[in-house]
Amino acid sequence: MKKLVNYSKILLKIIIFLMKLFILVTPIIVVHQCYYCEQIFDSKESLYDHVEIHSDTERNREISERQKAKRRAN
Ligand SMILES: [Zn+2]
Repeated sequence: MKKLVNYSKILLKIIIFLMKLFILVTPIIVVHQCYYCEQIFDSKESLYDHVEIHSDTERNREISERQKAKRRAN
């Protein structure tokens, strides 16, 4: 069970890394939107800083629960 938790944490780190990489390689994004929670930011830098919060597992659970509820409503 502990191994599984570690694995998902590593996976999460990879996702964050890929998000940041994507932010960096995309020269101009008209809308700076988080790929994870769909929040919108006014600059690339604030989005870049923001994606870091998704490495927080507790907070992620909260966000995904909210998204599931939203999906169910649609
Ligand atoms: Zn986000």
